[in-house]
Amino acid sequence: MNIRKGDTVLVISGKYKGAKGKVLRAIPRENRVVVERVNLQKKHQRPTKDLPQGGIIEREGPIHRSAVMLVCPECSRPIRVGFKFMDGKKVRYCRKCGEAIDK
Ligand SMILES: [Zn+2]
Repeated sequence: MNIRKGDTVLVISGKYKGAKGKVLRAIPRENRVVVERVNLQKKHQRPTKDLPQGGIIEREGPIHRSAVMLVCPECSRPIRVGFKFMDGKKVRYCRKCGEAIDK
């Protein structure tokens, strides 16, 4: 899985094409990611302590990993991720500017 929680990604296909957001959750088993403000789904919420009336809430649904591209924190472009070894650790790097993404 080359996309992880906390990464910023750009949606490149589907209804939310062009949206940019932070990865809230990565689900490697399903090849899916949950991106902030992307694929919002309305859910009926039963009353809870935090939300005493219940009602309808919006929550992000997972989208397929192939629908997003990682945005490089260094050059701010959507990129393909490469892997290299640095100090014996496997790190992701930007194929465009060459900067390591995991530091
Ligand atoms: Zn870059």
